Amino acid sequence: MRTCMLHRLSVWMVAAALALAVSAPSHLGAAEKPREKRKAAKAERLRPAADALPELSAEAIAKIEAALPERATAKPKKPRKVLVFWRCEGFFHGRGIAGGIKAIERLGKKTGVWTTDVTREYADLSAENLAQYDVLVLNNTTRLKLPDAQKQALLDYVHRGKGLVGIHAATDNFYDWPEGGKLMGGVFAGHPWGGGGTWAFKLDEPDHVLVAAFGGKGFKLKDEIYQFKEAYSRANQRVLVSLDLSDPATGKVKGGRDDNDYAVAWIKNVGKGRLFYCSLGHDANVFQDPAVVRFYLDGIQFAAGDLEADATPKK
Ligand SMILES: [Zn+2]
Repeated sequence: MRTCMLHRLSVWMVAAALALAVSAPSHLGAAEKPREKRKAAKAERLRPAADALPELSAEAIAKIEAALPERATAKPKKPRKVLVFWRCEGFFHGRGIAGGIKAIERLGKKTGVWTTDVTREYADLSAENLAQYDVLVLNNTTRLKLPDAQKQALLDYVHRGKGLVGIHAATDNFYDWPEGGKLMGGVFAGHPWGGGGTWAFKLDEPDHVLVAAFGGKGFKLKDEIYQFKEAYSRANQRVLVSLDLSDPATGKVKGGRDDNDYAVAWIKNVGKGRLFYCSLGHDANVFQDPAVVRFYLDGIQFAAGDLEADATPKK
């Protein structure tokens, strides 16, 4: 009986030691959990090639509707066709994309200036398909992996006289394609001004025709604001709107540029075509702002070649 007890005790001790040995890795695993959680959260945010857009509420759509201007700014030379492209291989701005699509579709319908097609397929950026459109909108696209044929098609499309419009993350794409970065007029280099803040903006030229939406005055808006690197230069494009660092909340944020030049929107002529880029549009709320919606309307009309605007760089 005693032997048996001892035997039992030793069996129990071996079992306990084994259990400890087995539990050791899972204990380490528990220490790794926050990192795994962060990784999972990041993967959720990135959602490569996300293909399902969130549904906007009826209230959100009604607010976009209410923000639409009564009529187009310029009379179009002919009925226009707009292609909205929204593929994301990086960060997925679901609500921003959905708001942008809704605003562009409804703008076209209400003004009668354009019809809108929407796609996320690279195949639709072929030269043949692009040929039917007047304006291509890169709607919050991220980390695009354009096939070579599509890269060439995009360059040719704009250089030969068509329009390109970029919304918000349209600059968060061509890290390994310098010509693409140059086409957009800048490459994303972070967003020191986070999406939870309300930031101040100034008009670089209050009298420029393309900023008429803002009535000659700076404005404030809740949005996420980018800084740019590489291709960004005032020598290459006409900057229309920038961050107003004289505003205390906006100026308090430390950006990464030595020159403190944080442009938000610009235009440029590209060969015979035109580019309009604006970094406003992180979330759907931006497309409920009448001035911003009118600004995008004017940008699209400029890109289409219907709204004349001086795109000569200022320096
Ligand atoms: Zn964003």
